[in-house]
Amino acid sequence: MFRLADFPTKKVTVLGGGKSGQAVAQLLAAHRCEVLISDEGTVQLQTPSAHITVETGGHTDNVFLADFIVKSPGIFPGSAVLLKAHELNIPVFSELEVALSFLPDGVNILAVSGTNGKTTTTALLGKILEKKFLRENAVGKVCVCGNIGTPISTCVDKVSKGDALVIEVSSYQLEDSTYFHPHIAGLLNITPDHLDHHNGMKNYMAAKARLFKDQTAQDFAVLNASDAVCAQLAEHIKSDVWAFSAQPKHWLKSDVFYDGDELIFSEGPHLRPPKLRGIHNIENAMAAALMALRAGATADDVQAAFADFHAMAHRIEPVATVRGVSYINDSKATNLDSTITALKSFEKNKTIWLILGGRDKGASYEVLLPYLKDHCKCILSIGECMDKIEKELHGDFPIVRCGTLEKAVAYGAQHAQPGEVVLLSPACASFDQFKSFEHRGDVFKELVRRLV
Ligand code: ADP
Repeated sequence: MFRLADFPTKKVTVLGGGKSGQAVAQLLAAHRCEVLISDEGTVQLQTPSAHITVETGGHTDNVFLADFIVKSPGIFPGSAVLLKAHELNIPVFSELEVALSFLPDGVNILAVSGTNGKTTTTALLGKILEKKFLRENAVGKVCVCGNIGTPISTCVDKVSKGDALVIEVSSYQLEDSTYFHPHIAGLLNITPDHLDHHNGMKNYMAAKARLFKDQTAQDFAVLNASDAVCAQLAEHIKSDVWAFSAQPKHWLKSDVFYDGDELIFSEGPHLRPPKLRGIHNIENAMAAALMALRAGATADDVQAAFADFHAMAHRIEPVATVRGVSYINDSKATNLDSTITALKSFEKNKTIWLILGGRDKGASYEVLLPYLKDHCKCILSIGECMDKIEKELHGDFPIVRCGTLEKAVAYGAQHAQPGEVVLLSPACASFDQFKSFEHRGDVFKELVRRLV
């Protein structure tokens, strides 16, 4: 368990100078540490400080002059710099663990993890708790942080007793944490992802299991009863387990299910889900609701937040309807699973013009075929991997090579009929033509606005 008091000389190295690396450096500098940020690439220090120095373009031996190291999530566990730190017995901690060591007593920690749906569930949970605090005349407040965009390190000194800290936690942050004790922890699903980084499924599961490891019988775990791996983990959890299920098949007794219209809670309430597409979002809503109810929200708080909640940017986000054609931005779909999830959220009426492609991630596009046949009219291919898409779909499905997003939107606008859909759900990384998935989605939205 990390405690700053255990390191009297307070010399720290932060590996990785991204957003969370800089935030934890600032936090430690504010607590009288001398911090070195070391990064293989470049660093643009947002807030310079006399107590923070920066080295870029590689890690020098200065890294190992520290009492402890804070590792940014993206750094590969088997990298030379970490192996050497290990050899020299320099303790390595996550930003999550270091940041939370500065949290005042009495703050309620809620953590959301899972392979998919973290950001949506975290945001929804934050909205429900806002309603709760509003009803209680704003005696406390909620701070939403973690992978969702605001580093945990920037939140810990903004909260006090009675407040809630809602954290989106990635498997990387969990893997690097020796101690993490959320009062309410939710795990949405576990499917194979980031297996290179974690060196296999077993380690990936072990990382996710850390979400519950330090919980006690006074805490709560919220799990997906329809996810076999979640159910397997439930056997080892000491806290009070609450399960949700939006699917007919489940492995744990479920405390909330979906009747096709409402969410039915075993505790009593029947609630209308938020207006979001897809059964996956029903799961996200169930998880957020169960967690919020354990944190003292009422059914009315949950219902009010559901009613206000709209699709998040870049996640099956409706952009506009132009001459009867709907344009939908799912730029966050950077892998095949996400694109399949998006397609499954539409009816099987073959009306989708799917904008597919970008930087390839190695898997075969063949898995898309059954879904393409059920839901889509045509693929509008873009980006680096157009040849691979064509080769793997073997002429089994109509493809128009567009090359760029601009041409794909123009083609869709020219050929789609009223009632049809132009969906950007590319199943690929964006870095061949864009800075990020957000940039790709914003360009798509701008192109659609121009059609209006
Ligand atoms: P994350 O933060 O875990 O990446 P997001 O909420 O940003 O999750 O959603 C990203 C994509 O993951 C969505 O566009 C959708 O395709 C898919 N997704 C979201 N929720 C779920 C879920 N509960 N189960 C499976 N897939 C999901």
